Amino acid sequence: MTKIACGAIIFLLAVAIAPVAEAAPCLIVTLTGTQSGPPAVNGLAGAGTLIRYGDDSNNCSALRMQFDAGRGTNMRLSQISVAPGQLNAIFFTHMHTDHTEGFADIIQLRWHFNSKGPKLDAVCSSDVASPLGFTISCTKFVQHIGDAFLQSGEIAQRHAEDKTRLAGGPAELINVITFEPKEEPHVVWSSGDVKVSAIRSTHIPGHASYRVDTPAGSVVIGGDAGNDVLAPPRATSTSDQVERLARGVDVIVHSTIHPVMGPDRDSGMPPPIFYRQSSTSDLGAMAKRVGAKHLMLTHMGPPIGTAMQGPFKVPGGPLTEADYRKAAEAGGFTGNIVVGTDLASLRLPTK
Ligand SMILES: [Zn+2]
Repeated sequence: MTKIACGAIIFLLAVAIAPVAEAAPCLIVTLTGTQSGPPAVNGLAGAGTLIRYGDDSNNCSALRMQFDAGRGTNMRLSQISVAPGQLNAIFFTHMHTDHTEGFADIIQLRWHFNSKGPKLDAVCSSDVASPLGFTISCTKFVQHIGDAFLQSGEIAQRHAEDKTRLAGGPAELINVITFEPKEEPHVVWSSGDVKVSAIRSTHIPGHASYRVDTPAGSVVIGGDAGNDVLAPPRATSTSDQVERLARGVDVIVHSTIHPVMGPDRDSGMPPPIFYRQSSTSDLGAMAKRVGAKHLMLTHMGPPIGTAMQGPFKVPGGPLTEADYRKAAEAGGFTGNIVVGTDLASLRLPTK
């Protein structure tokens, strides 16, 4: 071997074993929709949160996890260039349309362009029978998500055009993973360094709250959780289970109702509807107790700038961003408060 060739080999070896700068892990929490409940208001998308995790080299996007998918979720995802085929998993807190009705749009489009797979993991509670005589079933929701498009003949028509599309429609592209919500957090989904835990929480039968733990930080998605005790007297309107789940967490994303809608004012909202949500002040107090650094308010009743919350009036007129901030601070929270707007995002670590 010539001296030059030998030198070249030594150089290549040196390059190969030189320490590569580690790309730092990071995550991004994005509110894909902030509307509270079923009404359509001012273009707000229905409830949902996207968590992306990765490192600096892939813009924190090696994994994309969607939590709930209310009306318009797919449109919001398109604004941040996330296509349905790129989601790794979707998690549902509960079977209310303001958290689920955007899923048909997402999974139909994934079927259209990504029928070759992979399947999308859909993670939610197992079937639960209510004492009132009905059953809440995420499994059936998922299995029947494409029924209207099958019945209309569209699935057969598009399948005839492209035989790689699954003949059974979008439901065939879903891997449903159910779990029994428990009183303590337990892991329900994981991928590499990322694990997602769930806990039972009170809103409707089968409601669950989630926690995502990653090397870049942790996020709790409370959903619409409230306290097991459905009305005062009680210590707080927030969920004791969510509080357990949120101990030491970095970010809490939670639905909330502003205290102004309470029965001590004249909103006309029936007390049970008000009491089953976590009030903004009580959420601020909980975020303080668990030592969270960030509180992201979403699903805010009433939405900012509206005189009505559905059929109920907002006493004193439309609320502002500052009204929500003040209410959370009144609970004693001194960390970062994000008053949710569609596509509001938070990155960890913060830059
Ligand atoms: Zn809701």
